[in-house]
Amino acid sequence: MSDMNILNKCMLCPRKCGADRLSGEKGFCRAGAEIKIARADLHMWEEPPISGSKGSGTVFFSGCNLQCCFCQNHEISAEGKGFELTAKELADTFLMLQDKGAHNINLVTAAPYVPQIIEALDIAGDRLNIPIVYNSGGYESLETLEMLRGKVDIFLPDLKYYSDKLSADYSGANDYFGRATRALIKMHELVGQPEFDENSIMKRGVIVRHLVLPGCRHDSAKIVGWLADNFAPQELLISLMSQYTPMYKAKDIKALSRRTSTFEYEYVCRLVENCGFDGFFQQRSSAEDKYVPEFFDKKYY
Ligand code: SF4
Repeated sequence: MSDMNILNKCMLCPRKCGADRLSGEKGFCRAGAEIKIARADLHMWEEPPISGSKGSGTVFFSGCNLQCCFCQNHEISAEGKGFELTAKELADTFLMLQDKGAHNINLVTAAPYVPQIIEALDIAGDRLNIPIVYNSGGYESLETLEMLRGKVDIFLPDLKYYSDKLSADYSGANDYFGRATRALIKMHELVGQPEFDENSIMKRGVIVRHLVLPGCRHDSAKIVGWLADNFAPQELLISLMSQYTPMYKAKDIKALSRRTSTFEYEYVCRLVENCGFDGFFQQRSSAEDKYVPEFFDKKYY
């Protein structure tokens, strides 16, 4: 069982904002004392070894410790949409998704709720026997990741920016690269190299995601260079995403007010291939906002 007293003075993520969540205070991430989610369903739009043929059992947690100006899920990450669940109800939600055929349980933006998630996983116990995926913006503390040792099988972190200026301007975190890269090394230490079952569904490992932003291909190149310097090609997979669409506050930021060009995306794809990494490249036709799922403020299942 996990100790909820951690939430008295929350230091679960690198913000270390110290919110007394148990007394009703909300953290920088907007998380309070209770678990809050906005959707739990099968999701087909993750990478192929995660979504498979039946879907990933995705749970979208409300709140976020980054505040990205282009966030496609801003209704939940910044505006707090969602509904509260007890740890028992979260455990039942995991089991419901497993019963629906989910290949895995996919915890999206879960850092503020790690103690409660561990409690829910303990409640579900052996009844839950599919891999657990921790799907993260990458801004994670090493201590919180350590709490997930033996609980999470697959890490799916973003590595968004190399430049501290970009991360400060676009996500409100001027120490993102240092935090996210240390977290990535820790994630790899926790789960090891990618492993797949006989149907090519991922069982363990790390997939690093990077979204190529307009005007930022040289920043993307530095990220690929860092990955090549720190990991052998077989140690992790890279998912290079092209679906950037000006949404939310980014519509009013000139540099972010257009889509990533094909030239920019393919430039970064070539670098990833030249470094020998395996991974996933996106069809340009999928670069639209139609993949934003519906979120709920009342329990609907
Ligand atoms: S998880 Fe939320 S409440 Fe906790 S330190 Fe981070 S921002 Fe603050």
